[in-house]
Amino acid sequence: MGSMAASRLAVDDLPPASVADQVGTIARKELAPLAAGIDEGTVYPDALLRRLGEAGAWSSHQPENGAADLRCAIQSIAALGEVCGATAFMAWCQDTLVWYAANSNNPKLVAKYADKFANGQILGGTGLSNPMKSFFGIEKLKLRGRKVEGGYVVRGALPWVSNLGADHFFGTIFKREDAPDSIVMFLADCSNPAITLQPCKPFLAMDGTGTYGVQFRDVFVPDELILAAPAGPFVKKIRAGFILLQVGMALGLIKDCINIMDEVDAPLSHINRYLPQQPIQFRELHAEFEKETMALARDPYNTDDSYWRRVVALRLRAGDASVAAAHAAMLHCGARGYLKSHRAQRRLREAYFVAIVTPATKQLRKMLAGDER
Ligand SMILES: Cc1cc2nc3c(=O)[nH]c(=O)nc-3n(C[C@H](O)[C@H](O)[C@H](O)COP(=O)(O)OP(=O)(O)OC[C@H]3O[C@@H](n4cnc5c(N)ncnc54)[C@H](O)[C@@H]3O)c2cc1C
Repeated sequence: MGSMAASRLAVDDLPPASVADQVGTIARKELAPLAAGIDEGTVYPDALLRRLGEAGAWSSHQPENGAADLRCAIQSIAALGEVCGATAFMAWCQDTLVWYAANSNNPKLVAKYADKFANGQILGGTGLSNPMKSFFGIEKLKLRGRKVEGGYVVRGALPWVSNLGADHFFGTIFKREDAPDSIVMFLADCSNPAITLQPCKPFLAMDGTGTYGVQFRDVFVPDELILAAPAGPFVKKIRAGFILLQVGMALGLIKDCINIMDEVDAPLSHINRYLPQQPIQFRELHAEFEKETMALARDPYNTDDSYWRRVVALRLRAGDASVAAAHAAMLHCGARGYLKSHRAQRRLREAYFVAIVTPATKQLRKMLAGDER
């Protein structure tokens, strides 16, 4: 009896591995040769993202019977992140788009888009940085909308939205100018002629992520593209998943930084052992994060304040540890990692993105300080 319960527990604790394993194989075989081009910004890997969708990479976290399990999605993002941080970020963008549609109560939207997002037929992302910052009193909402017959008209601009292209979609939020204190979450359809995608200035990394400034010039958003109105309760429902999925980027990146340190162990251990941070410490940290992530990822609709604080604390530590691991990998590599052709310097640039993408380190610290407004 006791041993049966123990074995059931052990199996339950394991994430469903097959999709993440398949994603890992695609990452090593098909993504690895593209990673340098994606980093340089000469490649936006849309074909690969669609192929990953066919393999099930974007569908495992959709809710069933009111419950959702993000473990496999996070493991898949991590598998991509072990090879390419920019692609892990695009995976997160796509997964959040799926997450929004799958949680919407708008039957027309769900019927028309949920499957197409989940199987990668339609690609896209999320423009929630500005709204997420606005909820914590960091900046004001940049999009404004008003109700009209059959939908809303929206105007304004978002400075950065990733994983976009001419036929892509993303979820974002506007403030109603005709109903004070009311916010609406919707899907923006990039093929709408009143939406313009403006290329961004080159970034430190992430240039191959299809990131654009997006302008809305009195865009008509039909009711079938409304994710939630009012959006407040919806945001509360999806926010833990939004953040937990990001931890996949950190898990993959930290794992590769450990790999990099291991790779230079044979030629350089006699001197690298004087460095204060060793791969063993990051292995322990990675295992701890993975355990906490997998525990939290099984219950993304948990409304306890203590759960939310664990999610935020984990995300903060994951950003800090990404930068620390990439920094340690650089020091372990020495001049080898200083070569542009070595991935250590790419990992360092990617690590900073984990720490600055919304919710950024500074916002997470504000959130943990309990300072919501
Ligand atoms: C490569 C990349 C991809 C991104 N992809 C997305 C995405 O897909 N979706 C999304 O919602 N967000 C995206 N962002 C935004 C990101 O999530 C963060 O919001 C952003 O990095 C800043 O966060 P922060 O909290 O540090 O804000 P801060 O940098 O402290 O403040 C941000 C505000 O400062 C001002 N600001 C900052 N930089 C400039 C500038 N160069 N010129 C003028 N004003 C400026 C703007 O008002 C901006 O809203 C992306 C950012 C980058 C760099």
